[in-house]
Amino acid sequence: MRKYTAPMLMLAIFETIAIALWLTKDNLFYLLNFSYIGCAIALGLTLYLKKYSYARRVTQLLVGGYMLLYLGVICNENMQIEGFWYYLFTGVFEAATIHYAVAKIFGPLLFGRGWCGYACWTAMILDFLPYKVPRQPRKNIGWIKYIVFAASLVFVSALFLSRVGDLETIMFWAFIVGNLLYYAGGIVLACICKDNRAFCKYICPITVFMKPMSYFSLLRITCDTSKCISCGKCKRVCPMDVDMTDNSRKRKNGTDCILCFECVNTCPKKAL
Ligand code: SF4
Ligand code: SF4
Ligand code: SF4
Repeated sequence: MRKYTAPMLMLAIFETIAIALWLTKDNLFYLLNFSYIGCAIALGLTLYLKKYSYARRVTQLLVGGYMLLYLGVICNENMQIEGFWYYLFTGVFEAATIHYAVAKIFGPLLFGRGWCGYACWTAMILDFLPYKVPRQPRKNIGWIKYIVFAASLVFVSALFLSRVGDLETIMFWAFIVGNLLYYAGGIVLACICKDNRAFCKYICPITVFMKPMSYFSLLRITCDTSKCISCGKCKRVCPMDVDMTDNSRKRKNGTDCILCFECVNTCPKKAL
């Protein structure tokens, strides 16, 4: 049973969040929501321990599909960054703001960019594309994400300042159109850069929150340098161009690691 400590621990963490929010917010939704996500993550980790190659994808599709289709489309909850600004400005500490706090702002202190590897509904689709490992060197255009981040803030601020009516409906359509733009932009960029994760590296505004927080992540890939033979196989399979053999926090692209464990699975010396 010790082998399954990680899935049981993740399930326990999510159940704690689920019960705490259920009781403090007096809303059964939180119990069901976080229990479901915890079970999906625990299932993925269990499949990984059983050496199923599609383990991460199972969690990604279960969580990403649920958030996009159920929370976003059916429940009209804008879970994109515009939704976060919207609920923040209205002072509502509900689903979208809680989601950002747990998955994208404070969660990365514990599990880094785990959201990006196991739950994001944008990457859930992009990971079906054929460029799983970048076929071109990384481009120096990461500044675009700051412009997208600022644009999302300006867009929601403008809605509030202009006092337009029926903001709920506008935010719902912003969610639909925003996602379509993300998918279209992500697929085009992946094909141009020959890199499934090009959107994540250059465009995604959420990384403005996640990168600085995941710098301090408790959970991270480390290298046992006494075992490493510098064969370079790990770096060749990394979708995010991380130098995982460097144990320092300042490692190259360290805050981009999505904890996909491709490098760990590939290392012939079990050094990672
Ligand atoms: S960087 Fe953005 S698009 Fe990519 S996986 Fe993370 S949240 Fe999703
Ligand atoms: S291959 Fe390793 S270093 Fe690269 S993103 Fe996956 S877990 Fe992180
Ligand atoms: S694959 Fe393993 S042995 Fe090879 S460079 Fe990476 S950590 Fe070292």
